[in-house]
Amino acid sequence: MSWDFSTEPEFQEKLDWMEKFVKEEVWPLEVIDTDLAGFTRLVRPLQEEVKARGLWATHLPPEHGGQGYGQVKLGLMHEIEGSSLFGPTVFGNQAPDSGNSEILALYGTKDQKQKWLRPLLDGEFRSAFSMTEPAPGAGADPTMLRTTARREGDEWVINGHKWFTSNAMIADFLIAMVVTDPDNENQYARASMIIVPKGAPGLNLARNIPNMVSEHEPFGMGHSEVFYENCRVPIDNLLGGEGQGFLIAQMRLGPGRIHHCMRWLGQARRAFDMLCERALQREAFGGPLARKQTVQNWIADSAAEMQAARLMTLHAAWKMDQEGPTAARKEISMIKFFGAKVLHDVIDRAIQVHGSLGFSSDLPLEGMYRAARGARIYDGPDEVHRVTVARQVLKEYTPNEGAWPRDHIPTRREAAQRKFAVQLEAATANL
Ligand SMILES: Cc1cc2nc3c(=O)[nH]c(=O)nc-3n(C[C@H](O)[C@H](O)[C@H](O)COP(=O)(O)OP(=O)(O)OC[C@H]3O[C@@H](n4cnc5c(N)ncnc54)[C@H](O)[C@@H]3O)c2cc1C
Repeated sequence: MSWDFSTEPEFQEKLDWMEKFVKEEVWPLEVIDTDLAGFTRLVRPLQEEVKARGLWATHLPPEHGGQGYGQVKLGLMHEIEGSSLFGPTVFGNQAPDSGNSEILALYGTKDQKQKWLRPLLDGEFRSAFSMTEPAPGAGADPTMLRTTARREGDEWVINGHKWFTSNAMIADFLIAMVVTDPDNENQYARASMIIVPKGAPGLNLARNIPNMVSEHEPFGMGHSEVFYENCRVPIDNLLGGEGQGFLIAQMRLGPGRIHHCMRWLGQARRAFDMLCERALQREAFGGPLARKQTVQNWIADSAAEMQAARLMTLHAAWKMDQEGPTAARKEISMIKFFGAKVLHDVIDRAIQVHGSLGFSSDLPLEGMYRAARGARIYDGPDEVHRVTVARQVLKEYTPNEGAWPRDHIPTRREAAQRKFAVQLEAATANL
C-alpha cells in the first residue's frame, strides 16, 4: 500500500532552489517601472538561468524541450511560480501560452510545430486562446459558439466576435475555437481549432477591455475584444482534426485548471505570510494583533483551508497523471471553485489585518484581491464547476426504493426486528 505525502529529495532540491530564486530574483521585477524592452532585458538572463537548470517549460514532453514531469511535480512548481505575476514568464509556463503549447505539441502537424510551437517555447512568440464570445455567444456554455469558419478554396474564412481573448493584442498568433460543422447532430463535434496569425486579413484586434485589474496588466497584456471579419487563413492552419475543437479544449483546460489552482496557492501563501508577519508586528489595545482571538481564528482558518486546497489540488493532479483528465473531471472542478474561494478569503483576511495599509496600493494585497475575483469566472465560473461536481457525485447514487429514505428509523427498526427475531424471542423467553 502506498500513501505517501513526501516529495523525493532530488526534486525537493529543485523546489528549494526555485523558492529562493523566485523570491530573490523575480519578486523585485514587480516593483520596477519599465517598458517591454526594459522588462525583456531584465527577464532574459533569468530565463536563461532557468533553462540551464532544466526547469524551463516543464509542462511539455521531453521531445518538445520539456522535462515530461507529471502534473503533481508541475503543480508543486506552479505553487512557487504563482507567488509572483512574473514567475510563470520566467519559467516559460505563463498562461495562455502554456496551454497553447500543450495542444500544439499534442495535435500540431510537423509544420505547425516548427512554425508556432518552437518560437513559443523559445520565448520569441506570445499567443492567445480565443473561445469566449459576448452574449448571445459562447461563455459558460461553450456549445453556444457562434463564430464560424467555412472553407473557401485553400483558405478558412472566419467570421465572429470574441472577447476576453487574453493577450490577443500582443500575440503573434491566436488559436480560435470556431464552428465548422453547424449541422452535425453531435453538438460536441461541430467545432474546430484554427491558428490565426497576427496580421491575418480580417483579424481586427479591437481593444483590451478595461477591467478590475487592467492597471496591473503591463506591456499591452490584457483581455482583448477581437472581431473576425471574413478573416482568411490557410487551410493548413486547422489544429487537429475537423470537429475536434471540444476534445482539444478539454485537453487544454484540465491541466490548465490544476496549474491555476496551484498558482493561486502560491498567491494565497504570500498573502498568508504577510498576514502572519503583520499580526506579530502591529500592536493595538496593549499587545500584538497576533494575540487577538479573531486574528488567531483567521490564521487557523487560512492555514487549514490552504492545506485542504493544496491536498485536493495535488490529489487531482495525481489522478490526472494516473488516469487522464476525463477521469479527474470531478476532482478538477472541485478544486477550481474551492481553490478560488480559498484564494479570495486568505487575501481578504490579510487585507483586514493590515487595515488601511492593506487597502492601499503601497502593498500588493489590493491588486491580488482584485485579480482573485477573476478566478471565480475564468476557465468556467464556480457555478458550472459545482454543477459538474454534483453530477459526477450523483452518478454514484441511486434513489432508495419505496417512499422512505434508506435510513428511515421506523422502517429500519422493523427490518432489524425481523432480522434478529429469533434472538429477541429467546431473550424475552429467558426473562
Ligand atoms: C481574467 C479573465 C481571463 C479570461 N481569459 C480568457 C481567454 O484567454 N480566452 C477565452 O476564450 N476566454 C477567457 N475568459 C472568459 C471566461 O472563460 C468566461 O468569462 C467564462 O467562461 C464565463 O463566460 P461568460 O463570462 O460569458 O459568462 P456567462 O456565460 O454570461 O455566465 C454568467 C454567469 O452565469 C452563471 N451561470 C452560468 N452557467 C450556470 C449554471 N449552469 N448554473 C448556475 N449559474 C450559471 C454564472 O454565475 C456565470 O458567472 C477570461 C475571463 C476572465 C475574467
